[in-house]
Amino acid sequence: MRKLNTKWMHPRDQITMIIDKIYRSGLTTTSGGNISVIDDNGDVWVTPSAIDKGTLRASDIVCVRKDGTIEGKHKPSSEYPFHIAIYKCRPEIKAVIHAHPPALVSFSIVRQIPDTNVIPQAKHVCGPIGYAPYALPGSNELGDVIADEFEKGVNAVIMENHGTVVGGADLSDAYQRFETMEFCARTLINGSTIGTPRYLTDAQIDDFENQIPRLLPEMKKVSYPSDERAIREQIQRIVLRACDQGLMISSYGTVSVRWKDNDFLITPTNVARWDIQLKDIVQIKDGKREPGKIPSRSTWLHQEIYKRYPHINSIILTQTPYLMAYSVTDEKIDVRTIPESWIFLQDIPNVPFGSHFAGEETILETLSKNTPAVIINNDSVLVTGDKLLGTFDKLEVAEFSAKSLTMGASLGTLVPINDEQVEDLRKKFLG
Ligand SMILES: [Zn+2]
Repeated sequence: MRKLNTKWMHPRDQITMIIDKIYRSGLTTTSGGNISVIDDNGDVWVTPSAIDKGTLRASDIVCVRKDGTIEGKHKPSSEYPFHIAIYKCRPEIKAVIHAHPPALVSFSIVRQIPDTNVIPQAKHVCGPIGYAPYALPGSNELGDVIADEFEKGVNAVIMENHGTVVGGADLSDAYQRFETMEFCARTLINGSTIGTPRYLTDAQIDDFENQIPRLLPEMKKVSYPSDERAIREQIQRIVLRACDQGLMISSYGTVSVRWKDNDFLITPTNVARWDIQLKDIVQIKDGKREPGKIPSRSTWLHQEIYKRYPHINSIILTQTPYLMAYSVTDEKIDVRTIPESWIFLQDIPNVPFGSHFAGEETILETLSKNTPAVIINNDSVLVTGDKLLGTFDKLEVAEFSAKSLTMGASLGTLVPINDEQVEDLRKKFLG
């Protein structure tokens, strides 16, 4: 697994890695979208004009030297003037991503800015979002209206009737902002399709940001037996798969697996999920953490779930675009849609925002053998199970159900399978 190392990787390799990810995630078309990175010389590396985004190679990336000379096989993206304009007015920005991702374009064409107070990490990750009036693509005027917004200190801008542009301290930072903002937009659109989105207050967001302290003590000696390493591999595989399947974004999500007794392994905090490495995963043994690593903010909850429920051996906490519709509105998800959904999930209750913070008992009291998953309001969904792959499967089933319900909302009202049909399912499958 290659890691996006913005400190050591050549900008053209960073750019091809991220454009490939953006294309495969459905966040840009083949022709739209461009990325640039400015290096320590002041030279700007940028994606080429009119070259297929699906098969872009490092050798296709163009360099615009500080003095304006252009080097490379192709012409630079026609939109590079506004990249240069951003670097000129904000020297601390070292990477820029521009694209036309569908949900942010929806906001752009109805001339609105997504409210990032809808999920807890988004305000912090995206920062305030600017709004640039329409101007002709590739024109200096477009560069000017975008630079005007960046000059105000924002790192993300909605471009009227066009798309979005974000900047970052490096390409990883810019990508995380871009992806999180699009996720927010999708959550708001899906939430508005089934109900009315509710928002977190600034105080609630501060509570979320301030819950890191309560770190477990560090263990003195660590050992990594083969069964421990096998769990690292399992966790890494599932996190990457979740990211690939659109079931986890860079800026949020935790996966843990019980190792033995109440010891477990868990993903760290503040690591881009799609880029997680085996060494990033944190061992928790005898209530202590591996030295030098910061486990997920939700570690306390995972620890308490493993203590209380011997049948639970893996946990996934994540944000997915359709389940989040049921997290940010007062609508209740009904999994009596199809047999598969009911058999896997039975019921997914909602719990208030903050229920997953250290010391809160609500989730511990809500989970049971017949309640493997909960939706945390304006935050995430938590799914538990035995084997990690089975837990992941439940997450997929839940997200598919939420997607069918959301898509069906424009067709008519859900006719759920009835009590008698449910009883038959219970007898046959849950006996
Ligand atoms: Zn564009």
